[in-house]
Amino acid sequence: MSGPAQRSAPSPVVSQTGARVERQPLSRYTTLGVGGEAQVWTVADHAQLAEAMSAPYRILGGGSNLVVADGGLSERVIRLGGQFAATDLTPDPALSTPEQLVTGWVGGGVPLPGLLRRLQRLGYSNLEGTVGIPAQLGGAIWMNAGTRFGEAFDGLHSLEIASPEGTRTVTPFDLPWGYRDSGIPRNHIVTRARLKLRRSSPEAVQERMDAADLARKGQPKNRTPGCAFKNPTLPNGDRPGGQRLSAGKLFDEAGLKGSRVGHAMIAPEHANFIVNLGGASAADVHALLDLMRERVGVPLELEYELWP
Ligand SMILES: Cc1cc2nc3c(=O)[nH]c(=O)nc-3n(C[C@H](O)[C@H](O)[C@H](O)COP(=O)(O)OP(=O)(O)OC[C@H]3O[C@@H](n4cnc5c(N)ncnc54)[C@H](O)[C@@H]3O)c2cc1C
Repeated sequence: MSGPAQRSAPSPVVSQTGARVERQPLSRYTTLGVGGEAQVWTVADHAQLAEAMSAPYRILGGGSNLVVADGGLSERVIRLGGQFAATDLTPDPALSTPEQLVTGWVGGGVPLPGLLRRLQRLGYSNLEGTVGIPAQLGGAIWMNAGTRFGEAFDGLHSLEIASPEGTRTVTPFDLPWGYRDSGIPRNHIVTRARLKLRRSSPEAVQERMDAADLARKGQPKNRTPGCAFKNPTLPNGDRPGGQRLSAGKLFDEAGLKGSRVGHAMIAPEHANFIVNLGGASAADVHALLDLMRERVGVPLELEYELWP
């Protein structure tokens, strides 16, 4: 009996140092669910990471801020596993007081939502303002992700950063960090961090998480990389102090809610979110971004990161 030949996916190979190397669609790793293929290196320790960084690469976190091209990427894509995905929340007795504590190392590849759940159960405070951000710890630190309730750098004691030049440990005082920016150069990899936390109670931490969560009510439930554009500022003459306008409100007023290109849509719930209705391409998303730029008469800065 003859039938169509079965095409099997190429199996992963193991690099010299033991990293898992596999050609994979990046749609699998992005919250938008879009993106062509790349060679994905999953690294478990520093030897594997050093080998992975020996050719052009990008570092992938939770994929929650990315629009990856349909044609994929020529660079290696590094994912943090093994020791970079381990969590040690044991307070360091030398650095901790009855009120404040400094934890052991938490890997840059640890998903932030699960980490926040563990911190809440322990009654450890300082990071709960980042609840609802679907990042990995390393990605959240690299962007200094946050909300009006708090940001990643609120709970940071020190961090380890790897690059092809080597690995160094720094504290926030060593970095020019600011609003949604850590000051860490691109492709310098946050491999792990020690957290600086305040001892509180599970109930009090939960209460603050609920407040931050409430502010997300009404955000779309479909696959998305979150907000598309930063809230624009206007020159001082137009608004006192160069205040920021709401990008979502501008797109809403331009009648863009529900606009579709292919299988991508500007969310009816929030006009600054682009969602994947199922089967969207990066080209669909780019067309919507162009439409948003065209229809709003102020210069806009993209929040999404476009790969490449
Ligand atoms: C539903 C939704 C809600 C969101 N809400 C918010 C919000 O309230 N506030 C907010 O700030 N953001 C928000 N975001 C955006 C996004 O979650 C953040 O920008 C987050 O910091 C991205 O982290 P990531 O681990 O997913 O990184 P990725 O999207 O994988 O990568 C983003 C950038 O970080 C770099 N990076 C990733 N990991 C590392 C690492 N270990 N070391 C160095 N660089 C690294 C990547 O190379 C890339 O340049 C939201 C996104 C979604 C989908």
